[in-house]
Amino acid sequence: MTATADDNTQHRSRMVAEIEQLVRETARETGRAALDSRVIAALRRVERERYVPQQQAAQAYDNRPLAIGAGQTISQPFIVALMTDLMQLRPGDRVLEVGTGSGYQAAVLGELAGTVYTIEIVEQLALEAARALKAAGYRNVHTRIGDGYAGWPEEAPFDAIMVTAAAPGLPQPLVEQLKPGGRLVIPLGASGAVQSLTVIEKDAQGRLIRRKVLDVRFVPFTRTPR
Ligand code: SAH
Repeated sequence: MTATADDNTQHRSRMVAEIEQLVRETARETGRAALDSRVIAALRRVERERYVPQQQAAQAYDNRPLAIGAGQTISQPFIVALMTDLMQLRPGDRVLEVGTGSGYQAAVLGELAGTVYTIEIVEQLALEAARALKAAGYRNVHTRIGDGYAGWPEEAPFDAIMVTAAAPGLPQPLVEQLKPGGRLVIPLGASGAVQSLTVIEKDAQGRLIRRKVLDVRFVPFTRTPR
């Protein structure tokens, strides 16, 4: 193992320890006192430095969001961890992510699910993320350039769906593309303000059960003009 790879393993351990601390501190709001051990293992494996701009590589394992260009950010690792945990993924699950951004969240999902479909509206980011995911060897993560509001109907339905941009309301196509028994994790609320990270469960009868988890701040969900 090279010195660099070794250093990054240690950096990831520190990042995971900081995430676990924050999970404990927010347990009363989130209802999660600890992360699933599979989620922790995934966070230890994914090389976040692959998904941040080269000049920010030294900050890759800081527990904070970083700029990735086009006015967008790679989410704070704690938020990635929490949102991933809320998806309650099982091996073999089919997952949709809206807002690929850097591709880091998609990689974490790719560690835990069977197949991941991820959509990004900014072409340049989508292409860079696709390159990074391919270089890291995630053959089960599929990327697409487009407006994620419409979801990915050709690959629906999904066991779980995650939106990583702030949406004012629930995108109806995503609700339709969720399997009964499935979960949708989404920051709901006006952009530029605090949003409520929300879990929506679709029960066997297709009814939606909503639960607010935590106040968060995401970049806006943008739409293609039509
Ligand atoms: N999951 C990302 C976080 C990216 S920030 C990561 O791990 O890095 C949110 C991303 O959502 C931005 O890249 C933004 O361009 C994208 N986005 C915003 N609106 C979108 C839409 N309607 N469809 C697809 N992507 C969208």
